[in-house]
Amino acid sequence: MELMPQSRTTPGPPAWFLGQVWSDSMVQTDDPTRLRVQNVRFSPGARTAWHSHSVGQTLLITEGRGVVQSRGGGALRVRIGDVVYIEPGEWHWHGATDRHFMAHLALMEGTGQGAPGGSELGEQVTDDEYLTSAGGD
Ligand code: MN
Repeated sequence: MELMPQSRTTPGPPAWFLGQVWSDSMVQTDDPTRLRVQNVRFSPGARTAWHSHSVGQTLLITEGRGVVQSRGGGALRVRIGDVVYIEPGEWHWHGATDRHFMAHLALMEGTGQGAPGGSELGEQVTDDEYLTSAGGD
């Protein structure tokens, strides 16, 4: 076994997030598992841009209240203890509600090429899209 070095908390890159988002890369292993675990903290109103993961993603909500929405689908309201699985290639976004913090662990596998998790980035979630799904909570 090995006590892993703790990563430095870094701000979420502006291309990927709106609002205050901080992330810790907790696990990043090499072949054969390629496991990636990130602890991501969103302030009220903060969210990812629309994106997809070529190998899917599992989110474990560890604090607060948030929303996960699939493109063309309804928004899931989530809170501590909830687990959300996002299918490979499924376009979606995740974030806090407008009145609460939200933190989650994001679990996925690397693909060995490109962005972690084979992620693909789209446009930002507009305020209208956001408030329709995540407002008032
Ligand atoms: Mn995602």
